[in-house]
Amino acid sequence: MAGEKIVVVGGGIGGLTAAAALAQAGFAVTLLEATAAFGEVGAGVTLAPNAMKGLAHIGIADAVAAAGVEPPRQRIQHWQDGRTLLQFERGDSRERYGAPYVYIHRADLHAILVEAARLAGVELLTGSTVASVHAEGVKTQDGRSVPGSIVVGADGLKSVVRKLFDPQPAYFTGHVAWRMLAPAEGPLADLAQWPGMHIGPGRMVVRYPLRGSRILNMVFFARQGGWNEEGWAIPGSAEELVATYDGWCDEVQAMVAAASRGPLFKWALNARTPLSDWLIDDRITLLGDAAHAMTPFLGQGAACAIEDAIVLARAMGAAGSTAEGLRRYVAARRDRANFIQLESNENADRLQGDDSSLFGLGNLRNEETLGLFAYDCRTTPV
Ligand SMILES: Cc1cc2nc3c(=O)[nH]c(=O)nc-3n(C[C@H](O)[C@H](O)[C@H](O)COP(=O)(O)OP(=O)(O)OC[C@H]3O[C@@H](n4cnc5c(N)ncnc54)[C@H](O)[C@@H]3O)c2cc1C
Repeated sequence: MAGEKIVVVGGGIGGLTAAAALAQAGFAVTLLEATAAFGEVGAGVTLAPNAMKGLAHIGIADAVAAAGVEPPRQRIQHWQDGRTLLQFERGDSRERYGAPYVYIHRADLHAILVEAARLAGVELLTGSTVASVHAEGVKTQDGRSVPGSIVVGADGLKSVVRKLFDPQPAYFTGHVAWRMLAPAEGPLADLAQWPGMHIGPGRMVVRYPLRGSRILNMVFFARQGGWNEEGWAIPGSAEELVATYDGWCDEVQAMVAAASRGPLFKWALNARTPLSDWLIDDRITLLGDAAHAMTPFLGQGAACAIEDAIVLARAMGAAGSTAEGLRRYVAARRDRANFIQLESNENADRLQGDDSSLFGLGNLRNEETLGLFAYDCRTTPV
């Protein structure tokens, strides 16, 4: 089994983690990435402790923590008067969950992952858009055949590999978002020191610090029909943002004002319905968004992709055959991923309910109380 050739389609967070972990486990891995160069958008990502445990497995947790910011705490605030509805300690995450809670710039995480894959001996092919999967591997849009007895589709929301499992396109979730990075100065400096979110009916604003807390990452969410253009780099209009958050508290107005100075990007949130199986012919499988693209309301999409990647490599390393390894991977991952996907959708309703004052007074269901942080992809049975 070791030495078996595996093709990973897609060099996002999930594909790069899987490629590095599989190569470290002794497989011969080729990763194909459609874009001409590896990279990520100018935005942040939260790596909850369960994600950081996966990155520890491939030996990059310290580098990621050093490049990121570990918040001491977070809070959820009322949209109109800004009062704190709930607050969470995050500084004790290493003691409580065995790994830190980290905010990081996506480009910084990506650079560390690419280096880890390269060091593990992964063959990295950029400018290689996979057009189809065939019996001996995959074929690229420009007609090259890349051999591999196993194909892992880590090609994201619009996955080509997923089409073999499910012909339906991704669906529009009814949510749109605007994203923006700004210097953490003036009124934004305090918000960077105490990250979190403001919640209101049908809307919420998330903010957290990046790069030594010099930058504030802001994401503005709203339920909005009639527009479902997907893509990370569609320019957003400041007027629309101002109108959407009219009447929200001063802190939100400060973020709207900073975001209005641009550049501001807007995108529609699309997702996937859960699949009943992630395995075809005992040799083609999926991971990350290709398998289970979810809404971002638990901050767990990338975490789930990282968990998939590590469990895949461990299952493949532990099994007597590649077919058995893939089956053990799917059996270990599918229910958890489906659960997180469904809870993430429901969390949008919980966070953006009609009466924000009631938030957290009842039975709180969030990424922490659901037990997601405690999961350890390095030791979960495969
Ligand atoms: C607003 C928002 C905020 C989020 N915040 C968080 C968060 O805080 N924490 C968290 O854990 N998750 C978060 N997520 C989710 C997270 O970003 C995704 O789940 C994660 O990036 C998925 O990684 P992936 O590798 O599966 O897919 P992707 O990152 O989409 O990577 C897929 C890669 O495949 C390539 N590709 C596509 N098609 C082909 C092809 N045919 N051939 C070759 N290559 C191809 C693409 O170019 C891309 O590089 C958020 C999502 C959104 C929308």
